[in-house]
Amino acid sequence: MELEALYKLTHGLYVLGAMDGERPVGSVVDAVMQVANKPLVLALSCNNQSYTKECIERNGKFSLSVLSKDIDPYIIANFGFQTSRNVDKWQNMDYVMEDNLPYLKDNIARVGCKVLQKVQYESNTLFLAEVENCVNGKDCEPLTYLDYRSYFKDEVIKKFNEVKQAKEKKMAEDKNEGKKWVCTVCGYVYDGETPFEDLPEDWVCPLCGVDKSFFELQ
Ligand code: FE
Repeated sequence: MELEALYKLTHGLYVLGAMDGERPVGSVVDAVMQVANKPLVLALSCNNQSYTKECIERNGKFSLSVLSKDIDPYIIANFGFQTSRNVDKWQNMDYVMEDNLPYLKDNIARVGCKVLQKVQYESNTLFLAEVENCVNGKDCEPLTYLDYRSYFKDEVIKKFNEVKQAKEKKMAEDKNEGKKWVCTVCGYVYDGETPFEDLPEDWVCPLCGVDKSFFELQ
């Protein structure tokens, strides 16, 4: 079998939302399509490892925010590269609650659904769900899964790493706040204008003459 052939089935990319009690959870999904007109039924497939899937099974409802071609790549990284089990993904997002379901403000359409049936597979769970709410968002073309695979994924990974590094840097700075570089030989406390890290390698302690490696943050 040539599994690549299945990539030629076109579909979009969506932020899936659900409620974990009072807390909104979410993930990125691509396997969504309308499968009936009367009643209005959508099919949604979720990975069985997904925490959002567990929450949909518990309360029987989910939301879909349809993403546009000009979506901020970080939104996909935020919902796709972390788990709602230990991260509040909606916290840093611009979102609205409608009928007790979360939606991204930046959407081209939003759809709220109630689960009718569930089919369990080894890897995935398929939900068949009735549309209870659907509203048009901004006027823009939908992002497709093909866009994601062909060029958008690189931007998403880049943005995810940028934000992660900035967070780590900020945490390191917070941890070192109020601390000083102190010479472990003579006790001299560095308080120069230049950050200690940026001093040249041949810089020495003005009191005892040892090099930078003898200093530590205290
Ligand atoms: Fe010294």
